[in-house]
Amino acid sequence: MISFVIKKGTNSNEMRENNSSLITANLLDWYKKEGRDLPWRETSDPYKIWISEIILQQTRVAQGREYYFRFIEKFPDLESLAMAEEDEVLKLWQGLGYYTRARNLHAAAKAVMDRFNGIFPSTYSDIITLRGVGEYTAAAIASIAFNEPHAVVDGNVFRVISRLFGITLSIHSSEGKKTIKKIARSLLYTEEPGIYNQAVMDFGALICTPTQPKCVECVLQDWCTAFAENRVGELPINDRKIALRNRYFHYFHILQNNSTFLQKRNGSDIWKNLFEFPLIETPLPNDFSQLVKTDFFGELFGGITLFSVDHKLAIKHRLTHQLIHTHFYQMIIPEEIPFNPPKNIFKIENEMLSDYPVSRLTHKYLETI
Ligand code: SF4
Repeated sequence: MISFVIKKGTNSNEMRENNSSLITANLLDWYKKEGRDLPWRETSDPYKIWISEIILQQTRVAQGREYYFRFIEKFPDLESLAMAEEDEVLKLWQGLGYYTRARNLHAAAKAVMDRFNGIFPSTYSDIITLRGVGEYTAAAIASIAFNEPHAVVDGNVFRVISRLFGITLSIHSSEGKKTIKKIARSLLYTEEPGIYNQAVMDFGALICTPTQPKCVECVLQDWCTAFAENRVGELPINDRKIALRNRYFHYFHILQNNSTFLQKRNGSDIWKNLFEFPLIETPLPNDFSQLVKTDFFGELFGGITLFSVDHKLAIKHRLTHQLIHTHFYQMIIPEEIPFNPPKNIFKIENEMLSDYPVSRLTHKYLETI
């Protein structure tokens, strides 16, 4: 198929166009032989493709596959998802993280029932109006389910194109994004945009990986500027420094008779609408003797001094931009002591605990007791 030689690393428009069509052809050829066998690729149902794309937004394929099956089994269609209680959806999502995705899926399913008569929208411009759907996800669904010619552009694509075309602009700059999106559109195989998009996703995930890309076996090596100029390790240019926020959480797993106590998180912080034990967050590390002096501790226990305390677990939990230093205390209040926590804290039987959606952090603790 390749019958002429193109000087590597050229930037001329003509050469780039030639390179683009050869890159696309070789990428598709590679995908036919090496593409991943994924369950959501066996369907053209936009609902299932949408679920898979949302799951994969911040989740590895190996973990996402299991959740995809569970989700589709419990909510096989839009209507069943729209009719579900939010707690049910969150419970099913438990452990995947980034719970906003689950809340958005639920809200979007209801919106499709209302605004599109229960039929999943079939155009990019309608799909992108759904909550939780950005340019990447809309392009993926529109191309895979409806053959619309939209190129997906995500971190994988930024990386692959930066290396192939030797782009030295930051992938966070508006110029860098504009340049890469333009190239992504030029590479798109418009006859089969869904296949092309899946090919580039797999290529970024399997071959042109963030670290240790498999350049030796790469079918695009002949057109790769970064490879020709020995700059693979330098690209893409990512000049954004992520500040890590340290937080200090102290949870109280309070037991009385056969019951425990939970609260629901609200506001705009992490884990909105998930359940957790009563919590004190402090700006700096604190030990138990310091927690006892806080206002919240006084409100929670209202002067009760007769309880046993067991420091069960100290754990650091990493989120993308946060490191949560956490202590779990288990406290047993004797049956005869009246315990009346604030209104937002409610009592449940211990055996009901597993019915409530909780964060991965709380889940880790529950696994230890
Ligand atoms: S040669 Fe290496 S850097 Fe270039 S596209 Fe292939 S895997 Fe990526």
